[in-house]
Amino acid sequence: MNHDTICALATANGIGAIGIIRISGEQSFEIVNRVFQGKNLEKADSHTVHYGFIVDVKMEDGSGETEAKGQKPAANSEVIDEVMVSIFRAPKTFTAEDSVEISFHGSPHIAKKILEVLIKNGARMAKAGEFTMRAFMNGRIDLSQAESIADLIASENEASRKVALNQLKGGITNEISILRTDLLNFTSLIELELDFAEEDVEFADRTALKASLNRTEEKLRSLIDSFQYGNAIKNGVDVAIIGKPNAGKSTLLNALLKEERAIVSEIAGTTRDTIEEVLHIKGTAFRFIDTAGIRETTDIIEEIGVKKAKEKIETAKILLYLYDEFDSTPNEITDFIKEFYREDLKILLLHNKIDLQEASSVNIFDAELKEQLFPDYTSQIIGISAKNKTGIEQLKTELADYIQNLETQESTIITNQRHYEALQKSLESVKRVEDAISGKISTELLAYELRYALEYLGEISGEFTNDEVLGNIFSKFCIGK
Ligand code: GDP
Repeated sequence: MNHDTICALATANGIGAIGIIRISGEQSFEIVNRVFQGKNLEKADSHTVHYGFIVDVKMEDGSGETEAKGQKPAANSEVIDEVMVSIFRAPKTFTAEDSVEISFHGSPHIAKKILEVLIKNGARMAKAGEFTMRAFMNGRIDLSQAESIADLIASENEASRKVALNQLKGGITNEISILRTDLLNFTSLIELELDFAEEDVEFADRTALKASLNRTEEKLRSLIDSFQYGNAIKNGVDVAIIGKPNAGKSTLLNALLKEERAIVSEIAGTTRDTIEEVLHIKGTAFRFIDTAGIRETTDIIEEIGVKKAKEKIETAKILLYLYDEFDSTPNEITDFIKEFYREDLKILLLHNKIDLQEASSVNIFDAELKEQLFPDYTSQIIGISAKNKTGIEQLKTELADYIQNLETQESTIITNQRHYEALQKSLESVKRVEDAISGKISTELLAYELRYALEYLGEISGEFTNDEVLGNIFSKFCIGK
């Protein structure tokens, strides 16, 4: 139990109609009461709101310290702001501690002054994420729920908001606790066997254990698989736009974003650095990366750009390869695609500048490409005119479909790298338990692996954790959260 009373600005730092300062800890009511001109807050009921003023109380001895008991506030005490104060009594509060929220006129200067008087009267500034950390430490929420709060705050679209909310409501916690209960039952039986080792009895029915492990394994796999989708909706999807200089990459990016962001020019190789723009399509953030034209070059500056393009493809999930038939050959495109092909890279070929060509010519060119690349490397060519914005909607639909295809039947979506890794480790352990049963290894080893599987699952909810992990998670929160 932490006895410090902490305070921090909970709203964004800047001008707003209202700002909120949050205070939590044993002395919350006492501290706020000292600086509050209005009702006696120490006697106020929980979940009530009170009108009054925050005052910087100066004592008669001029000390400014209100600790000095028995002194009366001096006439020169200064009113800082007119406020509303909300009272929340433990344990039904966010932190499960006594808490107060002060709503004041949203000026950063007022916020600073109120925090100063709170600190002068015994509170201390909260560290990043400290309120949420207390909620976790006091058992109000588990670790995955604490993390979901950070995700909710960071959510920028419907999909990420929904998965974060599901996690906050205990989605993952429930799934994990079902899995753990199953494993725990068996662990107890196996450990009982260990206690009666000399008598050579089997309390844990191995067939039933196997069936249960299979179910666990299946569920773990399904949760692990959902991470591909979860990660895409939480962190967005990187899309690399690649093509020779002048293929129309910048024009395409502009068409997608409907504004003149990238510089369009007719001189080959002008898009030297990479440009990133985010476009939300059906609730998913796609990060488009325009790259310098891919080609062999002797120009030093361009070489840096080309190197970057290669790096971008390495981390991208989707590659948009843009070409026109005046400056490319099907063989050249095929060579490039084959060089950069990866199983987890979706490749879309975009035949640009179709406004300049007869449809028949476009078709002949693409027929050759299809022959060489379909269906092993890609199965999609879209004819577009970046300049006239033809085919752009179809392209957007393809991108949105890609995300939809990642979606699984799983109702709980894993979006957090830490959970993903813990699930993978747990799966590894479960697989070893299975091997152990099949190979009829000793009960000791079986118990050992089972305990590992349980521990990894427990990492997700924070049942098994350490200060380093906690520090790492909460330091990413903002102060006041
Ligand atoms: P980048 O080097 O790949 O970024 O190519 P740009 O976007 O700078 O385009 C090069 C030139 O091709 C510019 O003059 C564009 O106006 C032109 N261009 C791009 N897309 C089209 C298109 O669909 N049709 C036509 N006719 N011209 C295009």
